[in-house]
Amino acid sequence: NIFQKIINKEIPANIIYEDKLALVFDDISPQAPVHMLVIPKKNISKLSDCEKKDSEILSHLLLVVKIITDKLGISDYRVVINNGSEAGQTVFHLHLHILAGRNFGWPPG
Ligand code: 5GP
Repeated sequence: NIFQKIINKEIPANIIYEDKLALVFDDISPQAPVHMLVIPKKNISKLSDCEKKDSEILSHLLLVVKIITDKLGISDYRVVINNGSEAGQTVFHLHLHILAGRNFGWPPG
C-alpha cells in the first residue's frame, strides 16, 4: 500500500516525526490547515484487525499525537480513525488523522 511506500521512502512525503514504531507526515489532501497522519511502521490494515499484542503500538500512536501537537504548540485538535470503507477508510494501513487550525462540527459528516 501507499503508506508502506512512504515508510520505505520509496515515495516522498513531508515527514514530521519518525521513531522505531511510528511515522507522522502531512496528508497530501489536507482537510484543515493542519492535517497530519500518524501511522504504525507495522503493516496493520485497520484498527479492527489489531490484537492484544498490538497494544504497545496502539498506545504509542496516541502518545505520538500528544508529542507532536505539544511540539507544534497545537492545543485544540481532532483525532480521527476511519475503520472500513463505509467509515471513509481509503488507505488500508492503519492511520490516525490529526486535524487542527479551524473549527470542527459535531456530529462529523
Ligand atoms: P482515509 O480516508 O483512509 O481515512 O485516509 C487516507 C488519507 O491518506 C487521506 O486523507 C488522503 O488524502 C491521504 N493520502 C492518500 N494518499 C496519500 C499519499 O500518497 N501521500 C500522503 N501524504 N497522503 C496520502
